[in-house]
Amino acid sequence: MSGHVLKGIGVAVIVLLLAVAYNMYSSSVENDFKDISRTEAYRMGDHFTGFYHRPGCPKLQQAHGGGIRFESNEAARAEGYSPCKRCDPDGPNE
Ligand SMILES: [Zn+2]
Repeated sequence: MSGHVLKGIGVAVIVLLLAVAYNMYSSSVENDFKDISRTEAYRMGDHFTGFYHRPGCPKLQQAHGGGIRFESNEAARAEGYSPCKRCDPDGPNE
């Protein structure tokens, strides 16, 4: 009988831990996106990966110290860069 109760508590603890971990994960992703500027029109190209980013994209910051500035998506694509999947540089500006 008490073993059954303990098992129930164990499951409840695991569910709680998963919920806490998920909350921490989703808020860290949110913070990542908060740093991405959607008001700037210029883009930053990462010559190492060949992707271009919005200013402040965490992918670019993690990478290679800033990158190359382009004045538009078109300018970045003309140099052979591809849009980042994280910061969606081709998406709408605010
Ligand atoms: Zn990016």
